[in-house]
Amino acid sequence: MRSEIKTVGVVGAGTMGRGIAISCVLAGYETLLFDINTVLCEKALPLIHQSIDQSVSKGKLTKEAGEEGLSRIRCVKSLPDLRADIIIEAVIENLEVKQNLFADLEKINTEQTILATNTSSISITQIASALQNPSRFIGLHFFNPAHLMKLVEVISGKQTDPDIALTMMNFSKSLGKTAVEVKDSPGFIVNRVARHYYVESFKLLEEGVSDVEGIDKLLRSSGFKMGPFELMDLIGIDVNFAVTTSVYEGFNRNPKFKPSAIQKEKVDRGFLGRKTGRGFYVYK
Ligand code: NAD
Repeated sequence: MRSEIKTVGVVGAGTMGRGIAISCVLAGYETLLFDINTVLCEKALPLIHQSIDQSVSKGKLTKEAGEEGLSRIRCVKSLPDLRADIIIEAVIENLEVKQNLFADLEKINTEQTILATNTSSISITQIASALQNPSRFIGLHFFNPAHLMKLVEVISGKQTDPDIALTMMNFSKSLGKTAVEVKDSPGFIVNRVARHYYVESFKLLEEGVSDVEGIDKLLRSSGFKMGPFELMDLIGIDVNFAVTTSVYEGFNRNPKFKPSAIQKEKVDRGFLGRKTGRGFYVYK
């Protein structure tokens, strides 16, 4: 087993990075947050505060635990300051961006630092190929909202050290998560299965079988917690589109994973869902 994890670095202060950071601080880890956009990183702190306050007011967390958690997080302004026992990356879903970032992180951090990606769909083995030492690289796939959703997929690449996988299973459990070991495959487990929820819903929309509200309402009534379109608005339509595209490519353009032109148009117009105030629905 590796030495104890005390500090966590989170790269990307967007939807997922913030949720992952909350999980880490509430579990007692000192957490450093970095975003290429410094302003976004500073803006993330009040949002994290707000989420923790909500958990306190719902009685899920004591006021003291919330305050202690908040005292454990800070933003770092430059990447070389991001040194920790484990770094969890949650930046845009793009292979080249992630590879370049990890190549830098590897130089900045010690040989003992575990490097983890929260990618939804990109091959762990492929991202790791940019590293000098791919054995300490692993996928740690949280779900949205990351501080509330219990599941974490722990994905080993071809060269991931089994000891690192075991350490990450234990680390995920220390965050109060249900950790599941998964092999590297396009979309892993959840996102591969979930693709059909979105792809078929787009087909229904394109064929005029029903509209966005109708499909969402029907699927919610049939037992799904959220309809596909409101769920895409929560996830980020750009993120969801990138994941579908990556799974489609990963399966040699198998038509059953083909991304929808409707979704691409939303991305092109900047209608990305809740985070931009407009997606399939309009938000205040
Ligand atoms: P997001 O767009 O909300 O946030 C991404 C953040 O990364 C932005 O703040 C951006 O400024 C920052 N960033 C971009 N390039 C960077 C770089 N080189 N260095 C540092 N920061 C950089 O995205 P998100 O929804 O949080 O998704 C992040 C990752 O998590 C993606 O890989 C995505 O596939 C994955 N993921 C997303 C969800 C979801 O529901 N949104 C769920 C599971 C996994």
